[in-house]
Amino acid sequence: MPPPSHLRLVEPPPRRAARAPLRWRMALSCALLGAFYLLPWLRWDGRQALLFDLPARRFDLFGLTLWPQDLGVLLGLLAVLATALVLLTQLAGRVWCGHACPQTLWSGLFGWIERATARRLRRPALAAAARHLLWAGVALWTGITFVGLFSPIQALVGSQGGPAWSGWETFWVLFYALATWGNAGFLREQVCLDLCPFARVCPSLCDADTPQMHYLARRGEPRGPRPPGQGGVADRGRGLLDAVSASDYSFRAAHPALAGPLPRFASDRLGDCLDCRACVDICPMALDIRSGPHPDCIACGACVDACDTQMRRWHFPAGLIARASPRAMQQQPTRWLRPRTLAAMGTLLVLLGIGLYRL
Ligand code: SF4
Ligand code: SF4
Repeated sequence: MPPPSHLRLVEPPPRRAARAPLRWRMALSCALLGAFYLLPWLRWDGRQALLFDLPARRFDLFGLTLWPQDLGVLLGLLAVLATALVLLTQLAGRVWCGHACPQTLWSGLFGWIERATARRLRRPALAAAARHLLWAGVALWTGITFVGLFSPIQALVGSQGGPAWSGWETFWVLFYALATWGNAGFLREQVCLDLCPFARVCPSLCDADTPQMHYLARRGEPRGPRPPGQGGVADRGRGLLDAVSASDYSFRAAHPALAGPLPRFASDRLGDCLDCRACVDICPMALDIRSGPHPDCIACGACVDACDTQMRRWHFPAGLIARASPRAMQQQPTRWLRPRTLAAMGTLLVLLGIGLYRL
């Protein structure tokens, strides 16, 4: 008997070689955090390489010294960085948010400490005490490091005699320590959702050619647990669903109260999504990517890694969740040069040209 029309083979799903996940995201986070903590300790010509000395009205940037009359250079540098961020977001999506934003980095570090203490210390009270002790230590050192960009770090940590913080230094160290502790330990994704202005403008920077995270519903639906030993949809010859059925199943799975529960399917008719929820549990923004691309997604890729791990475990091809532009998802070529990217590139080149001319 032929399969029902909504389960017919449309085209074979893409195959990808099974390979161990690259831990590049963790390596990048460690490198960026390490760079931040190292930055105030770098020396250049006998002075701190990066020091915004406000009382002396002198900014040292790796051998370049700026005085109050050079304020335009500093503003120009900020304009270059802001334009570069806009261009990066247009071309690659929210990769800054997902991989380099301080809120993401410190939330990841605090989350790692939380998981590590809970795993190693079985008694909850002991784990909570250890977690808060470590969080407080990291937060305090972060505050000292940040203030060390504005006040010589060696004097701050007392390596040039006794530690004698001024009232302002004490205030800002404690302020940034508290902000780090609160934002990374407790608020986490709420900072991105409710406080970050960049998150508000991101949707207007992205368009149909900007990469986003996508769940391949035609391959994954209908989702569900199944006994081991059955291959993926490609091995079973089921293939991909048609787009309408796939989006119908996804919608019904996401809105059971509205659309009614998904019918139960025989395991050989299921798609490749095991409904294990690994992608949901790991999402720092508490999203279910299977409900479709979401403007709050920070493109961190954690759901991709989590799902690929499950796919490898079940000997299914990786890539059930993938990064692609909406146009690429419709088999159309991605356009890198578009009016908005050309405008950002032009602005960047003009700013860089002015900067080089002034220097
Ligand atoms: S949906 Fe995926 S990429 Fe987006 S924030 Fe969640 S884990 Fe990160
Ligand atoms: S991790 Fe993959 S298999 Fe598991 S629920 Fe998410 S999409 Fe489905």
